[in-house]
Amino acid sequence: MKWFFWLLLCAFIGYYADRKGRSKWAWGLAAVFISPLIVGIVLALMPDKGSDSVERLPQSSGGYREDEAQEEKRCPECGYLADAGEQYCPRCGEMLW
Ligand SMILES: [Zn+2]
Repeated sequence: MKWFFWLLLCAFIGYYADRKGRSKWAWGLAAVFISPLIVGIVLALMPDKGSDSVERLPQSSGGYREDEAQEEKRCPECGYLADAGEQYCPRCGEMLW
């Protein structure tokens, strides 16, 4: 049964590496061939690829902003950006199309 826990640990290392923005296959294989415990400790000591995920965030939020823009209506009267669900402008009461 020991090999099962070994594989489970290796799978966990791979998952953990993936969460840290690193290659899960490289780290998973390293865990298989070296030791899940040693590789796990090394992985835990290594800093997150934080800059990577931070760089990814503005892109995703930028995409989100585009989605948001589609769900908003601009008031023809005052230019207020209202939710698409709004029928009347919350600022000036103009009917929104
Ligand atoms: Zn308005």
